[in-house]
Formats: sequence, structure tokens, C-alpha cells
Amino acid sequence: MSIASNLNTIKASLPEHVTLVAVSKTKPVSDLLQAYEAGQRIFGENKIQEMTEKWEQMPKDIQWHMIGHVQSNKVKFMAPFVSLIHGVDSLKLLQEINKQAVKNNRTIDCLLQIYIAEEESKFGLDENELNELLTSVEFKELKNIRILGLMGMATFTEDQNQIKKEFTHLKSIFDSIKDRKTENCNLSTISMGMSGDYQLAIECGSTMVRIGSSIFGGR
Ligand SMILES: *Cc1c(COP(=O)(O)O)cnc(C)c1O
Repeated sequence: MSIASNLNTIKASLPEHVTLVAVSKTKPVSDLLQAYEAGQRIFGENKIQEMTEKWEQMPKDIQWHMIGHVQSNKVKFMAPFVSLIHGVDSLKLLQEINKQAVKNNRTIDCLLQIYIAEEESKFGLDENELNELLTSVEFKELKNIRILGLMGMATFTEDQNQIKKEFTHLKSIFDSIKDRKTENCNLSTISMGMSGDYQLAIECGSTMVRIGSSIFGGR
């Protein structure tokens, strides 16, 4: 199957309120261009350097999403152009993003990553840390970032019940904070679901799915 037909099949299966992030990490620009020509404008990458190189080579009406773990010292490279940072998991990182946003005279949209899996290797805040961050004085001072919602990754397992439990947990955390509206916080997005579990994620309340291998093939 071609990239364009994979993309069209997936898009046709998504409800209207769900945004598709085409995860193009490790794939060559020629593959991304096929998705672009088929109409895709939102791409997700997990390495800042790779995303920056692709941004330089690709059409400029693309929205670039950083979906991987972010190191503070690399934020400056993507600050001029990144459209949404999914994996924000500390106040310190948020402060660095804000600082680089100021330098670029813009506001950078972010999602806070929540730890929902039963795996040591995954990043994210727990519910207490999330509430602490959102209610802190330091957070209120950040005028050049905007929190649009939450992101989470389920455990890598075949157990559908386990995955469902974790997605439902993320949705319930989202529901508990979604009415909190400040100048730098307007919560509408739940980024959860990948190639193997996006249908389940949508059933559990996802509004943004990050799909790579089902569009571009295995990595
Ligand atoms: C790679 C990646 C995806 C996409 O995974 P697929 O299984 O290829 O769809 C989604 N989210 C994150 C954070 C990723 O790193």
C-alpha cells in the first residue's frame, strides 16, 4: 500500500474532532512529501535535530509537532517554528520553552505529558505533580507558553484492558482540570493513541492521535 492510500484510509476512519499527527521519525523527506501531497499538514518527530532538518527542507505550511522527550538545551533549535510540544514534563522545561519563545517573539503551545504506563522507561508527571505545576506561582509568570492539554503513552502490551485502563485514567485526569482557564492554559486536547491502539484511545476520549508505522510502514 502507498503512503497516500494508508493516510486516506486512516483519515476516513477518524471522527471529525480527532486530529491526526503523522509520525514521520526516521523516514526520509521523500516519504513525508508523499504524505504532504496527499494533504497531510501535521507531522510529528521525536528528535529535535531531525525535525529541524526536515523543517528546512519541507514546505513551510506544515505544522511540526515534537512528540519525543525534550532536552532543555535543545529547545532553542525548534523554538522558531515548532507548532506543538507534546512531551513537556517539568516546570523547568516549561520555563526554558517560555524563555526561547520570548526570544522568538511568539507563544509556543505545549501539552503536559502524564505518566500513565506501568513502565519505568516512560516519562511524565503524575497527577499530584500536574496539579502542583498548574497552581504554582512560577507557572503563572510564563506568558509565552500556552498549555493546550495532556499527552500520554500506554504500556507496550497486548493486554487491551490494561491499555484501556491507562487511557481512561488520562481522560479522568484531563476532566478534573479541564475547566481551569488562565491566560496560558486552555485545555482542549488529549494526545493519546498510536498505530496499534488509536481506535481504543479514541473510544476513551482522545482528540489527537500520533500515527507512524500504519502510514509510513515499519521502522
Ligand atoms: C513513534 C511514536 C509514535 C508513533 O508510533 P507508531 O506505532 O509507529 O504509530 C507515537 N507517539 C510517540 C511518542 C512516538 O515516539
